[in-house]
Amino acid sequence: MEENIKVIIEQFVDFLLPELNPYETSVYLYLLRNSFLRDGVTEVRVGKRTIATGHGKPQRGEQTAYHHMSEVLKNLEEKGCIKIGDSNREGTLYIVNLPKDIPLVAEKMVSFLSQNKEEDYFNEPEKRREMFERDKWICQYCGEKVAPENVTLDHFIPQSKGGKHSKENLKTCCFICNSIKSGKTYEDAAPFLLKSIQERKAKSHSP
Ligand SMILES: [Zn+2]
Repeated sequence: MEENIKVIIEQFVDFLLPELNPYETSVYLYLLRNSFLRDGVTEVRVGKRTIATGHGKPQRGEQTAYHHMSEVLKNLEEKGCIKIGDSNREGTLYIVNLPKDIPLVAEKMVSFLSQNKEEDYFNEPEKRREMFERDKWICQYCGEKVAPENVTLDHFIPQSKGGKHSKENLKTCCFICNSIKSGKTYEDAAPFLLKSIQERKAKSHSP
């Protein structure tokens, strides 16, 4: 339950608060306070006057607050925050939507999540291939052609140093260079890479 409330408050602050004016915010929280937060249900029956006085409006302004309240409640309903039900002597029934169930919040959450989902160019076969094509199947360290049999993807900034599976951080790499570069930064690996490249060149030139 407590964890649940933490999530509700986070979603409220991050996604709903920017969409409501201060009065709407205060009425929404009042209804939430007297439904879900109190009883764990999303319904509350209450009189508009009670809501208005619940907001500490002075007696003299009560009538104004009351009229204004209808407008605020209507706005909240239009924004999908609440549903206004029937009225009887005990008041009006309000169905209070939790932030995640409010369409405009749900929409914002989806776009927020998709923005923050990092694309994985290391593990997804199609995306790996995209990297190889980008680098024209050439090892980005020794400049040799690579084939599907010996091609690898190197994390330029190693994963141990926070390097991501991102386009920018992945380089097409031959098996030999990758076994040298693996886990090292480029600066650390460079002398070893150079030595290996020289050795390989010497070998290919010897009869
Ligand atoms: Zn190489």
